[in-house]
Amino acid sequence: MPFVQRSGLNIRSRNRLHFSVNTNYQQILQEIYEETLPLKGQGKVADYIPALANVFPGHYGIAIQTLSGETFQVGDAEVPFSIQSISKVFVLSMVFKELGEELWSRVGREPSGSSFNSLILLETENGIPRNPFINAGALVTTDCLLSIKKEPCSEILQFVRGLSNNPTINYNNHIAESEKKTGFRNAALVNFMKGFDNIKNDVDAVLDVYFHQCSLMLNCVDLAHAFLFLANGGVNPWNQESILTASQAKRVNALMQVCGLYDDSGEFAFTVGLPGKSGVGGGVVAVIPNLLSICVWSPQLNKHGTSLAGMKALELFTTKTGISIF
Ligand code: GLU
Repeated sequence: MPFVQRSGLNIRSRNRLHFSVNTNYQQILQEIYEETLPLKGQGKVADYIPALANVFPGHYGIAIQTLSGETFQVGDAEVPFSIQSISKVFVLSMVFKELGEELWSRVGREPSGSSFNSLILLETENGIPRNPFINAGALVTTDCLLSIKKEPCSEILQFVRGLSNNPTINYNNHIAESEKKTGFRNAALVNFMKGFDNIKNDVDAVLDVYFHQCSLMLNCVDLAHAFLFLANGGVNPWNQESILTASQAKRVNALMQVCGLYDDSGEFAFTVGLPGKSGVGGGVVAVIPNLLSICVWSPQLNKHGTSLAGMKALELFTTKTGISIF
């Protein structure tokens, strides 16, 4: 067993409490995979940059990593993809660790109810983004990282490599470059917030780090590994390093629950019922505190930028296992 569960309810104690759960994860993954295959062809692959538009739309993979050390996977779970906004959870964790409560003077903790790249609320809310997962909020956390780390891109890489227990993870510079060429709204957001003095560093430097973090290439197994610290009271189970305090990990999970899927967050809470984070590359990661993390990747998206099969697979996962935080 590569690591130790920190605390909390485990499956055995849940059974003692008479929860009816099914932990035959491999069989459940296989069933989910087959039941959701018909969703292929129904969504739309992100097409704002060629590197995403050219991804094979039929890719589909799922991976689970449990705190007891088991990995389960199905389909293309070992094919790397661009994690896009899933990276916002990593950067938020890095700055929350360093800045603590001070961070919340720069970014809020409320759902925005608008799309991931909206500018609308910033005008009336003095350049303070609603939460760290919409683009405006993520640009602020990236700006915070630039203020506390000399080499933010290499620090992000080390952080993600450590969490995923995979030293080969890297950026896709081609994707980062394309994001830069087309990132007009992100440039508008960061300039607009600079006008409110809520961006402290050079706008191009902030955008460069943001576009790189979005271009990180991980597969479903890597991401299930990398999110496990949020199921483990903030401790990286691969090396026992404390990434966040238990209270901070709880708060990051709470933010994912209410804002992790932008204006699809209510639907995700309703149908899946877990803290989660999506990216327009088609990945969705969800966490069951004290138990496991799960990543689904299918690049075809719904109109909110959520992976269509990803959302359905996670809904089926909580339904079939009977495991939920609610
Ligand atoms: N690179 C995308 C953007 O900033 C990320 C959006 C997402 O994954 O939701 O526009």
